[in-house]
Amino acid sequence: MDTAKGKTAGMPQALPRTAAQNRAVLFEAELKQAGLRMTQQRRLILRILSEANDHPDAKTIFGRAFAHDPTLAVSTVYRTMKLLGERGAIERHAFDDGVSRYEHADQKHHDHLIDIETGQVIEFTSDEIERLQAKIAAELGYDIVRHRLELYGRRRKAD
Ligand SMILES: [Zn+2]
Repeated sequence: MDTAKGKTAGMPQALPRTAAQNRAVLFEAELKQAGLRMTQQRRLILRILSEANDHPDAKTIFGRAFAHDPTLAVSTVYRTMKLLGERGAIERHAFDDGVSRYEHADQKHHDHLIDIETGQVIEFTSDEIERLQAKIAAELGYDIVRHRLELYGRRRKAD
């Protein structure tokens, strides 16, 4: 995980952190830069999101956070997600089910395969696809700035 790369240069060497802790620290820095107060509830939401690997939607994030803090309002979750999205700290996905799902924006680039029967989201990377996309863009006279690739599939039955 190179999430903190560039931001810690010249800083004292911190103890190794887990990826989730790194993300939580980054989120906190993002919010501070945006001039936002780090409330207990925002910190809790960030922690939940940092620990998630399943592209949860706001309702799911709310459910997980609510288990720790029953005073949490769902509107606080939506507002926090909006703020983080505007700051580019999280990436919002709108897969075919029409629900906004979130993940940390600082992860290594990956694409998604969505199981249309279970809704499960599988992450993958392919050097071949990356190369091919760059080649196509170049042939059309472009450099790729970013891309999203979503595959929708049905699991093959074992034969
Ligand atoms: Zn993902």
